[in-house]
Amino acid sequence: MAAIELRNVRKSFGMVDVIKGVDLEVRKGEFMVFVGPSGCGKSTLLRLISGLEDITSGEMLFDGKLVNALAPSKRGIAMVFQSYALYPHMTVYENMAFGLTLEKGKGKEEIQRRVEKAADMLQIRQYLDRLPKQLSGGQRQRVAIGRAITRDPKVFLFDEPLSNLDAALRVATRIEIAKLHEEMNQVTMIYVTHDQVEAMTLADRICVLRDGYVEQVGTPMELYERPDSIFVAGFIGSPK
Ligand code: ADP
Ligand code: MG
Repeated sequence: MAAIELRNVRKSFGMVDVIKGVDLEVRKGEFMVFVGPSGCGKSTLLRLISGLEDITSGEMLFDGKLVNALAPSKRGIAMVFQSYALYPHMTVYENMAFGLTLEKGKGKEEIQRRVEKAADMLQIRQYLDRLPKQLSGGQRQRVAIGRAITRDPKVFLFDEPLSNLDAALRVATRIEIAKLHEEMNQVTMIYVTHDQVEAMTLADRICVLRDGYVEQVGTPMELYERPDSIFVAGFIGSPK
């Protein structure tokens, strides 16, 4: 069964159709990458999946259950954005624990255990007492990812998480995210990027979006060897 299934999902803002009938299955444990030109609807699609925006029509299912009207906090999803959006006046520890302290029934020890585990996974344990401004961009983005991990989500949504980092940090953090996906058993990830190398190296499958539609879905190899269109070939870097 698909972790996430979209059936003819549409989204309009006023008169403007942005997502124009998307059918897509994301498998449990899969690393799915969305690529496509600026403005084609990648971020909007993530926001629909997270519940931050309501779909205009169609159906969205998680583990086979309809979630069209389910509140974002009940979806078991964590989202990591391009800008880290950490609370500047809170330490790294407090930033990572904050979401958990809002959940009912989580004791101090449980929270501490989760934060430290996430910090270990991302190698930021030594920074837990610092403020965000005392960290580099890469470290801050790790904190943002760590904060997402502590919520123990079933699904991670990443919206161009590395695009504010310099090249070397991008590679290091990309490897970290790949490792995370391996370590977190059966966690499903959807990752938006416009970086071909990121897409090709991270993805189990790539979904190429174009102007609110799905143009093609396949493994990096399938898209590279058998692109359906010049558009896809252009995005994947294959010679068609
Ligand atoms: P991408 O992430 O692929 O660059 P977006 O999903 O951000 O694209 O945007 C897709 C289109 O939807 C763009 O034309 C954008 O202007 C429009 N759009 C996104 N959010 C809104 C909104 N809240 N109101 C009106 N238009 C929006
Ligand atoms: Mg975007």
